[in-house]
Amino acid sequence: MKNDQASDILREYLKRENNRITPERFEVLDAALEFDGHFSADELYISMKNRNSRVSRATVYKTLEILASCDLISPRNFGDNMKRYESSFKRQNHDHLICMDCGRIVEFVNPKIAKIQTDICDELGFEPSSYSFNLFTRCKNKKTCKYYNDKTNS
Ligand SMILES: [Zn+2]
Ligand SMILES: [Zn+2]
Repeated sequence: MKNDQASDILREYLKRENNRITPERFEVLDAALEFDGHFSADELYISMKNRNSRVSRATVYKTLEILASCDLISPRNFGDNMKRYESSFKRQNHDHLICMDCGRIVEFVNPKIAKIQTDICDELGFEPSSYSFNLFTRCKNKKTCKYYNDKTNS
C-alpha cells in the first residue's frame, strides 16, 4: 500500500460502517489517488485493467462512492452528465473552468469563492458542508481551442 495515511482513513471508515475490509478496496484507493486529473469510474476501471488488476467494475464503482464518503476523493460534475472524481487527499481545494467547445478543464483557486460560501451560510443560518463552482466558458483564442483546430484540420 503506497498511501499509508489515506489507507488508515479508509480502514477506519470501513470499520465504523461495518463494511468489509478487502485488499481490492485499497487497490482502488491507490489507483484513484495516483490518477492524474479527473476520471470517471469507467476510466479508472480501464486504467486498472490495463495494469493487469483483477478488480471488478462493480468494486471500482462501489469503492469510489466509499472514498467520496470519507473525503479522500471529490465527485465532480462538469455539466455533461458524466460523474467524475479526483483525488482530494493532500490537495488544495480548487474550482474548475470548462471550455464548452473543446472540453478543456482549468483548475483555479480563489479564496473569495470559499468566503462567499461561508458568508451566505452564516447569513441564512446554515453550516457549509460542500459546494461546487464551475465556470462554463469558451476559449477566447479560437486558434488554441482544440474544437476549432480539429474542425479546420479535417
Ligand atoms: Zn480538479
Ligand atoms: Zn476550447
